[in-house]
Amino acid sequence: MKTYKIACIPGDGIGKEVIPAGQAVLEALATSQNAFRFDFTSYGWGGDWFRQHGEMMPQNGLDALRDKDAILFGSAGDPDIPDHITLWGLRLKICQGFDQYANVRPTRILPGIDAPLKRCKPEDLNWVIVRENSEGEYAGVGGRAHQGHPIEVATDLSVMTRAGVERIMRYAFKLAQSRPRKLLTVVTKSNAQRHAMVMWDEIAVQVSKEFPDVKWDKELVDAATARMVNRPATLDTLVATNLHADILSDLAAALAGSLGIAPTGNIDPERRYPSMFEPIHGSAFDIMGKGLANPVGTFWSCVMLLEHLGEAHAARTLMDAVEQVTADPTLHTGDLGGKATTAQVTEAVCNRIRAGS
Ligand code: ATP
Ligand code: MG
Repeated sequence: MKTYKIACIPGDGIGKEVIPAGQAVLEALATSQNAFRFDFTSYGWGGDWFRQHGEMMPQNGLDALRDKDAILFGSAGDPDIPDHITLWGLRLKICQGFDQYANVRPTRILPGIDAPLKRCKPEDLNWVIVRENSEGEYAGVGGRAHQGHPIEVATDLSVMTRAGVERIMRYAFKLAQSRPRKLLTVVTKSNAQRHAMVMWDEIAVQVSKEFPDVKWDKELVDAATARMVNRPATLDTLVATNLHADILSDLAAALAGSLGIAPTGNIDPERRYPSMFEPIHGSAFDIMGKGLANPVGTFWSCVMLLEHLGEAHAARTLMDAVEQVTADPTLHTGDLGGKATTAQVTEAVCNRIRAGS
């Protein structure tokens, strides 16, 4: 029987609660379908590791992950450690170390969820945002000079390469082509950012020629936010830069009802390295340790992980189980206005898996 090696990195805050929940539903799937097995290895990296070792993960940490089939990640964030250290020291280290250049973020309004857009039908909102995940505004290029003096200067350079833009455009067009509507919106800001974003637009035109069956348009990022709220049904697949997509995908998650539901995959499309799946929410210290975290974002991330492994049947079984559970308001956690606990939601999903497989 096929055994998948999965690295689990719960990280900080509610990551420590939702990742074990994700492992539990994956175990339930493996047991009930009896078609494959999981070999989980957990790593205690994150804020606690930093306090003991002065770094968020060991120097050679990537070597431990390299032979895994996939990574399930919780969150990195700690009230005592600056955000740029927690982010760059763990999550981005893995994303960049394994060149996971496509960050894929699906958004749908799941059954039973009371989403804020009252003027649209739930089925009008069915998007997948493709975020450039390796360069752009988060390339980490820049610096500070004359620190603390009146003449201090600081820069964060947005660095885009032709190769980097071409590969993310190609990924986005291909993904759009695989979806029923074959519709792609290229998000830009080339009216104000007149170098890199102009190249971004040019490359979109060039790559579009390889995909004549994909309908596509271009939208400025500011206009895209308004369009997401006012005309959600006109969007399907979106591709945007690292920063733009970061912001748009939080908006998308909120429009779908809660940050606690949204999943993401950091994908190496060439499969040279393991890809990493995680809920989009952060460590949420305000609710940690209380058993209140919504595990649905992690479960949906597990669905993406299964799809990536090629286990389409298991992925569908898990998504069906999750949707049956969200459809029942007595199984909603606090972020959705309910009273259910992480453990109750997890148990309910495991039960539906056992019933549905
Ligand atoms: P970080 O600094 O790691 O990004 P954060 O404290 O900013 O973490 P987020 O995860 O970004 O927290 O979420 C903002 C708020 O949304 C949280 O404080 C929490 O109240 C709520 N929230 C986020 N995720 C969940 C979840 N899975 N279940 C319930 N509530 C959540
Ligand atoms: Mg946050």
